[in-house]
Amino acid sequence: GPVTAKFEAGFAEYCGAPGAVSVASGTAGLHILLKAMGIGRGDEVITPSMTFASTVNQLVLAGAKPVFVDCDYGTLNLDVGAVEALITPKTKAVIPVHFAGGPCDMDPLMELARRRGVAVIEDAAHAVGTRYRGKPVGSHGNPAIFSFHPIKNITTGEGGMVTLHNQ
Ligand SMILES: *Cc1c(COP(=O)(O)O)cnc(C)c1O
Repeated sequence: GPVTAKFEAGFAEYCGAPGAVSVASGTAGLHILLKAMGIGRGDEVITPSMTFASTVNQLVLAGAKPVFVDCDYGTLNLDVGAVEALITPKTKAVIPVHFAGGPCDMDPLMELARRRGVAVIEDAAHAVGTRYRGKPVGSHGNPAIFSFHPIKNITTGEGGMVTLHNQ
């Protein structure tokens, strides 16, 4: 109802995104984003080896092949320097996970993604309120998913949000 619309508008503003759509869970957000972006059978998606199962489950459900990139021992986020060697002609996207509220190093990742023509979807399930170079996660031009599961930063019981720049 109207409270949901208000939450979506407020969340989008907080994250610095032009729009946000509430969903039943972070997992549901990944599900519809992969569909909306046409990612499926025969495609490869690079994502960190250390994440919640949901990120990988949704890739497998979509028929895409998850390709694991190792994590940086210091930040626990994906090792941006290890991504390029994993890009093949089948690579459609990279899904970085902002692990435990710590932001991924987005500038070199975005430079790489632009140069090699792959999309970036941010798994921000634990990154409500996280900032990278002073700007909130969700504002960096990519679709991002957030989770409101009880173990996450804020909760709605169950729930999630997708922030979008190109609607
Ligand atoms: C929790 C989580 C999700 C999924 O969120 P749900 O709301 O539980 O479906 C996706 N990715 C990561 C990294 C998570 O921790």
